[in-house]
Amino acid sequence: MKSNLTKLHALIPMKKLLDTPKVKKKRSVSLEVQAKGRAALAEYRKEQAKAKAKGDKAYQEWLDEQALRKAQKKLSPMQAIKAFCNNCVGDIKADITNCTAKKCPLYIYRPYQKGEDE
Ligand code: SF4
Repeated sequence: MKSNLTKLHALIPMKKLLDTPKVKKKRSVSLEVQAKGRAALAEYRKEQAKAKAKGDKAYQEWLDEQALRKAQKKLSPMQAIKAFCNNCVGDIKADITNCTAKKCPLYIYRPYQKGEDE
């Protein structure tokens, strides 16, 4: 009997905890960041309207450029260097490993320096 009472007392605080509604903490974004976001969105919409006004072809080109920018933003700096080097030598890894352009700013950062397959 006593053990049942202690179990009940142990359960009451738990029940209180379960009944208490969870308060979600609101994510706060500073006013400065909000203002920057609004300004960037307004600029984006202005550019979009300009491109639309120029015609279908110009608008399609603008859309393609936006898609390219979005894809480029997903790259890390190292991935960007790797893509640049691959573009430079025509996707031949051995040529990047054996690159002789020591004055190239990317030379020390180029991938496949040890000839390993990454
Ligand atoms: S490091 Fe070599 S392969 Fe990479 S961009 Fe420069 S010249 Fe091209």
